[in-house]
Amino acid sequence: MTEKNNYLKIVFLGGLGEVGMNMMALEWKDKILIIDAGLKMPEEDMPGIDYIIPNVEYLKGKKENILGFVFTHGHYDHIGALPYLLPSLWHPKIKFFASSLTRGIILKRHEEFKDLPRIFVKEIQDKERIKIGPFFVEFFKQNHNIPDNMGLFIETPVGNLLHNSDFKFDSDPIYDQPTDFARLEELGKRGVLLLMSDSTDAEEEGHSLSEREIMENLEKVFQMAQGRIFAATFASLINRIQQIITLSERYKRKVLIEGHTMKMNVQMAKFLGYLKIKRNTLISAKDLETLPDSKITILCTGSQGEAEAVLMRVVHKQHRYLKIKKGDTIIFSSSVIPGNERTIQNMKDGFLRQGAEVFHYKMMDIHAGGHAKKEELKKMIEIMKPKFFLPIHGQFSMLVGHKKIALSLGIKEENAILAENGDILYLKEDQFFLEKGETPSNYVMVDGLGVGDVGEVVLRDRKVLSQDGIFVVIAVIDKQTGAVKTSPDIISRGFVYLRESKELLKEVRKKVISIIHRATLSGKVVNFTYLKAEIRNQLGEFLFQKTKRRPVILPVLIEV
Ligand SMILES: [Zn+2]
Repeated sequence: MTEKNNYLKIVFLGGLGEVGMNMMALEWKDKILIIDAGLKMPEEDMPGIDYIIPNVEYLKGKKENILGFVFTHGHYDHIGALPYLLPSLWHPKIKFFASSLTRGIILKRHEEFKDLPRIFVKEIQDKERIKIGPFFVEFFKQNHNIPDNMGLFIETPVGNLLHNSDFKFDSDPIYDQPTDFARLEELGKRGVLLLMSDSTDAEEEGHSLSEREIMENLEKVFQMAQGRIFAATFASLINRIQQIITLSERYKRKVLIEGHTMKMNVQMAKFLGYLKIKRNTLISAKDLETLPDSKITILCTGSQGEAEAVLMRVVHKQHRYLKIKKGDTIIFSSSVIPGNERTIQNMKDGFLRQGAEVFHYKMMDIHAGGHAKKEELKKMIEIMKPKFFLPIHGQFSMLVGHKKIALSLGIKEENAILAENGDILYLKEDQFFLEKGETPSNYVMVDGLGVGDVGEVVLRDRKVLSQDGIFVVIAVIDKQTGAVKTSPDIISRGFVYLRESKELLKEVRKKVISIIHRATLSGKVVNFTYLKAEIRNQLGEFLFQKTKRRPVILPVLIEV
């Protein structure tokens, strides 16, 4: 298969099939350039998982070939997996490239991971063109909901690729330049072999809102609010953070920043000049007492229902000093990532029960709104006039929707590529082929300090635990006789009320004694593993018959 050597390989590691976890690798004759390294928030059926990161199995034997990483922007779904991937991919010659704010966010986050090697991230500017091995990467500014977002025009040995990052066209942004169409046209004129385009809002009609319009909608909430405002958003949604701070200043509110990542990002973005905050606007928790509620904004994390974030603790009345009062206003200022709908709905209900007003993006356009909708996506394709088209960034239905848009503009069916994580695209000047499922793409889960040590088995246990609880049987066995000494102890959580199930427990004890008895040959337990499995199986059957539940059963056998 030396033939394959004359193709540019594009390896899709994440973001093609979900919102988040964006990452791909370009490979030309053993030289690899990586674009983004994002994480994804866990879904509702993944209890206890912090993040999901791309599966980089493909890169593991080839880390010496990795020239570097290029980052498009500072959102965690584009940079957030880096600290978790570095231990397996890092080598001293690897290079990192990012714009000023993106670089700031990456490095600030990197400080949290003390054991990782220090990294040097080269700051790049709009219009800069850099050579990375066989590739020339030229950066071009794209509007989004974070400043310093860069699309990539990549010259490769087979032709030009255009990766447009996350984007929207914005003729009226705040603290930012409007979309530079002349520049986009100029890039398009150079000839685009493959356009890889953001699909997040490909199923949405019309145009995205300009940041100015979002600000106006948010202002309506500020006008109406009587008590405190809790504004929840992503810590990396710098534009939204700026808008909330500016509006707070306009309405004479002081701002308390809550949540570790939010504090970290605000501090850093302010330092780099990407956030404009007046002196005396920011307050600390102790100032809350001294101000009337109508003069307080709380800017916090947790708009996606993240388990550990501020908003979740507030709604559960677990926060140290923030309690909801009647008259408070809650703003969920980011769109719902697929998979989090139910959690967010429950949070909204919780706040309403506690007497707060709730605003979310469906009621008023105050959401992230950072992504191009159908009309803009069309315009992007018309400007770039690519030979081949590939939708990226999105659930499969979004990729399909985006492909349809391309077909409606005359892109030929055979030139519109639908790829998924784990696929490899082989691209040449005038042709391509796609190899499906070439590299492992199952989710890698991060739980606390562990990366990838929570797999399907652990996750299944967690689901069972959350549904039917746990049932622990402790039996003490006499080493000499094999007899069960005293009645077995039972500990259970989340299964049945032990106090109300005396009969059941009595039967369980009898059952356990008889299982052990039968597994004991002439006074010896033959095999503890076997015995435990027997207890697990037989007890499992028995409990299911009695209760129609299947708790996790843990037999503990102690020999004395
Ligand atoms: Zn983004």
